[in-house]
Amino acid sequence: MTEKKGIIFDFDDTLVHTNIMFNEIKAAFEEMMQGFGLYDEKMSDILNKFDIANVEKRQGYAKECFPHALKQTYAHYSSLYARPVHSKEIRQIEALGNQIYQQKPRPLEGAESFLADLQAEYKLLLLTKGDPILQKNRVMASGLSPYFTDVWVVWNKTATDFKKVLAAHGLQTAQTWSVGNSIKSDINPALEAGLACILLQVTDMWDYEDAEAIGPYALAKSFEECRMILQGNSYRK
Ligand SMILES: [Mg+2]
Repeated sequence: MTEKKGIIFDFDDTLVHTNIMFNEIKAAFEEMMQGFGLYDEKMSDILNKFDIANVEKRQGYAKECFPHALKQTYAHYSSLYARPVHSKEIRQIEALGNQIYQQKPRPLEGAESFLADLQAEYKLLLLTKGDPILQKNRVMASGLSPYFTDVWVVWNKTATDFKKVLAAHGLQTAQTWSVGNSIKSDINPALEAGLACILLQVTDMWDYEDAEAIGPYALAKSFEECRMILQGNSYRK
């Protein structure tokens, strides 16, 4: 019996819509702020800066980061427009920010059949960033968890994390792929660990995940393209 090959998948914006959910909440926030008379065209940049600073400070996607960034943006504009802050409005903003974690993650179109097809040939593993309990619940709610042998949640993906997943599941480096939408999180640490990588960009992503690649990887713009690369082992020596 031959051992199955492995694929270590990313979750957010690789298999489920995440950025789009944040953008919906951000649009609702901007509307709310306009209602308070607190708005200018720089708002989305300012919110993004607060959000990134919070993630960097917490060294990961802690669930407090986004609602906190909304409140910081409210405080910033309240001060800018010399308008008093209202605790009722802060509570409204906090509730809006937390909605992101109450929504059921929606799989990208075709994600489920893609995983179902791969399952026969590959051992599928999920390595995702964020709050461990929250992420595990989101994976369950997405309906995609039955396709994965195991789900790993880390604050930030490193080469060591990829090596740990390989070791825990008896996978060979040369027989395992990393597939994800972020060069920073899914490609660079996986290349460092010696894996072959596919950058799968089916949907938009947060610019915080932008980076320069440290080595070669294959690019797929659809699940079908990704499947073809996996079948052809196209750039593997
Ligand atoms: Mg991602």
